[in-house]
Amino acid sequence: MLRDKIINAISEVGFDEYKEISSADIIFADAVFASCKANTCGNYGQNHSCPPLSGDMDTNKQRFLNYDHAIILNKIMFLGEYYEKMESSMTEVFELLDRLRDQLDDEPVMIAGPGGCNLCDECSAKTSEVCRFPDQKRYSMEGSGMDIVTMSRGLGMTYNAGDNKVGFFMMVLY
Ligand code: SF4
Repeated sequence: MLRDKIINAISEVGFDEYKEISSADIIFADAVFASCKANTCGNYGQNHSCPPLSGDMDTNKQRFLNYDHAIILNKIMFLGEYYEKMESSMTEVFELLDRLRDQLDDEPVMIAGPGGCNLCDECSAKTSEVCRFPDQKRYSMEGSGMDIVTMSRGLGMTYNAGDNKVGFFMMVLY
């Protein structure tokens, strides 16, 4: 059964929390796109998985609603005393996602993560070219307009773990 394979893969790769929901219960919010527009992460208009290139809200919602079920994953990372480990934490989270993708490579799932698509060393959006691998594009939770802060609170998942530790959220859809 597909769900069992996904849960096994999640356990093997190693995440701190996971919650299963219906994809219809994923929360999207225009405020998330507005926040992206402030471009604090540098991906706005610079990555095909981030706004405005990821499409309008309806397009993004539908991409997730094509699947019935969602599993939200969380990995809690220590960002360093002065948040100096932010970049290395993100790299570590992307490595976990890569391992999860490897395990579920042949399965009909979609995996979304934090940040933009990281498949290429440099996204072709930066040079205003089309996506090089549209079939393998990695979707972003925030870049799709998902309000992960509200969702994680509602589900009792850890967003701020204190002592400079935060949750990095990811999602498997099937
Ligand atoms: S596959 Fe490459 S070009 Fe396409 S969104 Fe990802 S990083 Fe950008």
